[in-house]
Amino acid sequence: MNILTLTEISKIYGDLKALDKINLTVEEGEWLSIMGPSGSGKTTLMNIIGCMDKPSLGKIDLAGQDISKLSSKELTIVRRDMIGLVFQQFHLVNYLTALENVMMPALVNKNMNRNEAQRKAKELLALVGLAKRLKHKPMELSGGEKQRVAIARAMINDPDIILADEPTGNLDTETSNMINELFMKINQERNQSIIIVTHSLELANLASYKYKIENGEFNMILPTIQF
Ligand code: ADP
Ligand code: MG
Repeated sequence: MNILTLTEISKIYGDLKALDKINLTVEEGEWLSIMGPSGSGKTTLMNIIGCMDKPSLGKIDLAGQDISKLSSKELTIVRRDMIGLVFQQFHLVNYLTALENVMMPALVNKNMNRNEAQRKAKELLALVGLAKRLKHKPMELSGGEKQRVAIARAMINDPDIILADEPTGNLDTETSNMINELFMKINQERNQSIIIVTHSLELANLASYKYKIENGEFNMILPTIQF
C-alpha cells in the first residue's frame, strides 16, 4: 500500500527555492534515507512531510488523504495520528520520566485512556531495551538512552511513518550503531515505514532506498550493481 506520495512539492522563501518540485512515493514498510549538505532543504522537507509546515506548491497524499489543503488545526491531528517524529536533539520533556514521555502523545486530546497508554508505553520501552529505565528522567539517561525513549515515543500512536531528522547526529559511533540496529529492528519486525535524514553513510546504507538532496533538488542514489 502507498503510504505517502509527494507531487511536485516546492517550498519558496522569498527568492530562495528551498525545495524545487519534489516527487516521491513511499510504500508501506519501506525505509528511505535522505542525504545532502547542510542547507540543502532536508529539514524543510521533513517538516512538510511531518505536517509541521506547508508546501508553497504541490500536493501531499498521506495514507490516501490529501493533506496539502488542510488547516493547521486539522494538520495537528494528522500529525498526532499518522506521524512519529525523532529529532537530533531528542526533545524530551525534562520533568517527565521516560515512561511519561512515551505516554504523552497518546494522552494529548485524550485519544487513548491512561491505562492503555501506560501499557503500550511499557511495551515500547521494552522493545527499545529500556524496560529497566521507566522511572528515569532525561537527565538520568545517556544520549543513546534518550534517543531510544524518543523512538519509543514516536511509535506510541502507531504512526504510518516515522520521520527521523539526523537521529544519530549527537551520538558517538558506538551509540549510533545501537540506534541504527534499533531502526532496523523496527522496520523489519513491525513493517514500519521510516524516512531518515542522515550524514552517516552507514545509517543511510541500511535503507531500502537512498535519496540525495542538493539545492532543493531531489534524486535517488542508484544502488551499485554487484557482479
Ligand atoms: P538542511 O536541513 O538540509 O540543513 P534546511 O531545510 O533547514 O536545510 O534549509 C534549507 C534552506 O532554506 C536554507 O537555505 C535555509 O536557510 C532556508 N530556510 C529554512 N527555513 C527557513 C525559513 N523559515 N525562512 C527562510 N529561509 C529558510
Ligand atoms: Mg536540517
